[in-house]
Amino acid sequence: MKVTFYGAVREVTGSMHMLSVNKDKILLDCGLFQGRRKESEEKNKNFPLDPSILTNMVLSHGHIDHSGRIPLLVKNGFKGRVICTRPTLDACRFLLMDSAHIQESDADYLNYKALRGHLYNLTNNKNSDLSNRERKEIKERLKLGRHELNRAEIESGIRENNLKIIEPLYTTEDAEYSLKFFDGYPYNQEIPIGKSMTVTFFDAGHILGSALCFIRGIEKGRRFNLCFTGDIGRFDRPILRNPTLMFPEEYRDVDLLITESTYGTRHHGPIENLKERVKEEINRAIERGGSVIIPAFAFGRTQEVVYVLHELYDEGAVPKVPVFVDSPLGKNLTGVFGEHPEVYDKATHKSFLQKGKNPFSFKEITYVGSVEESMEVMKMTTPHIIIASSGMCEAGRILHHLRYKIHNPRNTILIVGYMAEHTLGRRIRDLGWEYEQNGRKGKPPEVKFLNKLYPLQARVSKLSGFSAHADQEEMTRFLKESNLNIKKIAVVHGEEEQSLGFAEYLKDNNFNAFVPKPGETKEF
Ligand SMILES: [Zn+2]
Repeated sequence: MKVTFYGAVREVTGSMHMLSVNKDKILLDCGLFQGRRKESEEKNKNFPLDPSILTNMVLSHGHIDHSGRIPLLVKNGFKGRVICTRPTLDACRFLLMDSAHIQESDADYLNYKALRGHLYNLTNNKNSDLSNRERKEIKERLKLGRHELNRAEIESGIRENNLKIIEPLYTTEDAEYSLKFFDGYPYNQEIPIGKSMTVTFFDAGHILGSALCFIRGIEKGRRFNLCFTGDIGRFDRPILRNPTLMFPEEYRDVDLLITESTYGTRHHGPIENLKERVKEEINRAIERGGSVIIPAFAFGRTQEVVYVLHELYDEGAVPKVPVFVDSPLGKNLTGVFGEHPEVYDKATHKSFLQKGKNPFSFKEITYVGSVEESMEVMKMTTPHIIIASSGMCEAGRILHHLRYKIHNPRNTILIVGYMAEHTLGRRIRDLGWEYEQNGRKGKPPEVKFLNKLYPLQARVSKLSGFSAHADQEEMTRFLKESNLNIKKIAVVHGEEEQSLGFAEYLKDNNFNAFVPKPGETKEF
């Protein structure tokens, strides 16, 4: 078998590899590159292969950096099936539509900015400075309301002025169409994916639907077995089962394991304090008469936080103040979680299902729908808890909740997720944490969002136990404690130093590991 390592190679996003066996070509993941706009745009647009040559595709899980280019794959001539677990298919229905929506609004905004700049210049050329009134008129022409762009007007303006129109990477129609190519299957079932080749999905414990994908078959009379881990989750986390460690005999000898290394050289904090810490933070904020704002990714983190809150409420460990989940995507994805109890761990069955309870629904929780409802929550002054996206505070309803709550020292902003560099979430986390460590002395730090500076007076607390990726120890636990005999390991899906560091660490532990180069093909 040959494997070509196309994406998430010496970097974290854009997961994509191709397995060639006999005449079959199987794509493993087809993820979006995320990061600096220009660079990722180029990488996302240009497919390194002709999608029409592919037999089928295997998708490890729904995260956009693993699934986000599927609409483009289909648009460019893919004729096969996208094979994944059932929960992954159900999650992708919402995740891909949401991704398409983001692509469309990004393109709209860039077109708006280009045309607005052009019209400013045209007006300016009449030898007079542009007045505020003139600026306002131009803006108003291109908008439908304060926050909505007039797409038709912008597109015709771009054409009339011979400017280059920016197309979205793909549209909501493209995303919807690509979903027709998906087939969802249960875990632990052998599924044909090519001529004398099958895939079997086992729990990866990373996110709802995530799978360790075992591809087995025969080439030139010899059996082969490849394991593509996708992302590996952590042990003993809420809701999902742990990564599988015990495999049936026929899966145990692995010729090649392709594995992630997001936290290849890092170590997380212990997981068991999580509920206790959430309890402390809530009690502290509510005693002060404040509220708790939790920025959270709509897929995974939101449901985990809801789960922990539900447990705390059931135990009477915190005052039962109202809880609001304010993210339309989060609401839909919580629905998907609710529809797949077959993937929950034993603890979830014991605490909730056996008592006839849905883990994501309790008396005090409201899933906010309309913008009007969301506005009502923003203006609330009595103690409450808000879980909203986006997870890194770059867009979405969380910004409006922050706008109302950030300057009140009674409130707490609880950081439960990864905050990438250069995001508002990262600034809030770092500046707030520093201010807290200095005993909140002097002027509070300021953060800018929605075109305004806000004093960061709310308390900032961070919890690390929620991370969805295994750290070095846990990945090694999977490799050592599982009953797999692994011949060779390809380390992908990590920043270069993480991948190289993890490969070194594996070699020190007697594994035969290497880090492929982007685009490299290797024969095994
Ligand atoms: Zn993932």
